[in-house]
Amino acid sequence: MLIAGNWKMFKGPRETGEFCRALREADLPEDVDVVVCPPYVSLAEAVQALAGTEIGVFAQNCHWEREGPYTGEISPALLLEIGVYGTIVGHSERRQLFGETDETVALRARAALEAGLHVIACVGETEAEREAGRTDEVLRRQVSVLEEDESLVVAYEPVWAIGTGKTATAEMAQQAHELVKSLLDVPVLYGGSVKPENAAELLGQPAVDGALVGGASLDVESFAAICRASSLVRS
Ligand code: PEP
Repeated sequence: MLIAGNWKMFKGPRETGEFCRALREADLPEDVDVVVCPPYVSLAEAVQALAGTEIGVFAQNCHWEREGPYTGEISPALLLEIGVYGTIVGHSERRQLFGETDETVALRARAALEAGLHVIACVGETEAEREAGRTDEVLRRQVSVLEEDESLVVAYEPVWAIGTGKTATAEMAQQAHELVKSLLDVPVLYGGSVKPENAAELLGQPAVDGALVGGASLDVESFAAICRASSLVRS
């Protein structure tokens, strides 16, 4: 089980330090891998504050080149230099708001893996795509550009469930995860309005290997509660 908190554009270094020190003291289960994904400017603080723990620090994106004239981008080498363990790629907010495509997601995932980072690659259909019966087609297309790797995890995040309070039913999540797993033999996380109250049901599905959590990961207590819920369903 892996529980990753995607902080998006929240928490500067000061708040990150406070959060990570509180997370160190929180009651986290030992059989769950826990990851936080702060904004770039807070990564070094998170690495420092979590040093000596098993909690991993991931970025929210990374570029495919090692270095070069790419204003505003950050490479895998730069992340590794400050002790970052992995990165998210292809989050739907990147795809929808910043022009990310399947091709650029594939480039980012490959470069990060080759550099030695762990990768959480996000896939998921929009509401219109689900309503048009195109969920499978979209997932097949998004997954087809990714290559199996022992450091790769896919996050199934239906776009209509992100930050909306709507979640996929446990059955929808199970179906989508089974499809992704039939295409790629990797762990698959569910993401989309996961909270302490709904975590056990979603994480209890056999094809659900963890969660990528946005809003509910910003509070130490609710994030820790989701981690505990994920441990209970598999024990
Ligand atoms: C996310 O941003 O990956 C996410 C799942 O957000 P939320 O949990 O807030 O829906």
